Amino acid sequence: MKRMAAWIAAMASGAAAQTVPPKWNEPFPPHRVVGNVYYVGTSFLACFLITTREGNILVNSGLEQSVPLIRASIEKLGFRFEDTKILLESHAHIDHVAGHALVKKLTGAQVFAMAGDAEVIAAGGAGDFQYEQQWHWAPCRVDRILQDGETVTLGDTVLTAHLTPGHTRGCTAWSLNELENGKSLRVVIVGSARANPGYRLVDNSKYPQIAEDFKRTFRVLQSLDCDVFLGAHGWYYGMEAKFARIGRSAENPFIDPGGYREFVAVSERAFLQELSIQQGRVGVDSKKHSSE
Ligand SMILES: [Zn+2]
Repeated sequence: MKRMAAWIAAMASGAAAQTVPPKWNEPFPPHRVVGNVYYVGTSFLACFLITTREGNILVNSGLEQSVPLIRASIEKLGFRFEDTKILLESHAHIDHVAGHALVKKLTGAQVFAMAGDAEVIAAGGAGDFQYEQQWHWAPCRVDRILQDGETVTLGDTVLTAHLTPGHTRGCTAWSLNELENGKSLRVVIVGSARANPGYRLVDNSKYPQIAEDFKRTFRVLQSLDCDVFLGAHGWYYGMEAKFARIGRSAENPFIDPGGYREFVAVSERAFLQELSIQQGRVGVDSKKHSSE
């Protein structure tokens, strides 16, 4: 919670909005989550490596300065950074895609992104409906633009891209199956389901359908089967507490279907409350939650 408080404080200051809080980029121990899925992100920015016999998939590149940490994490797990063949993203914000150009340069990975996010990644942050004045990064060519429901295949791993718009126009939840102890488990990596401070959900001329898009996102997230719950930030799924439980029992701590349903329900309630406030139905302070 301390980390979250520092982040909220950083986001609340207009001057700090240009600079990324240093807390975002502290190293975190890399670890296996389930099957061939590994955590290789920082303390605050979740990045996942999915290994296959044809090379590896990386979901999220973090900040540009996260890339050396991601590389070190991949190597510590015994894999080669250079084997990264495909780079995916959760949503086109600086903390998940600013390292894309550097990862692509260092590994030659193909970059795939959902329509709506792909343009923002390629433009280095320009075109984002909320942050284009604040956050810029090295533009990165997108090799394949994805549509809702499309799959990404490498080796025998297949990921499905679920469009969950609102947080960004192309915000994406990824789902895949992983085997553990002979059992097939459904993994979901949530892209985001939050309206950040300052998001206009009503009369947003830059993103008129934002509220409808968020509603769609909750329908999509509710429809997904999830055994292993992951997301673009560790706090979505209680990463640190689950990491601390690794090896303490036979049960994999990342198997958490109830936690997934709870996250979706809590996120939906927060969204609907914020929407009511902006529609003038509720007269309470709407700026109690943090950005991401
Ligand atoms: Zn974000």
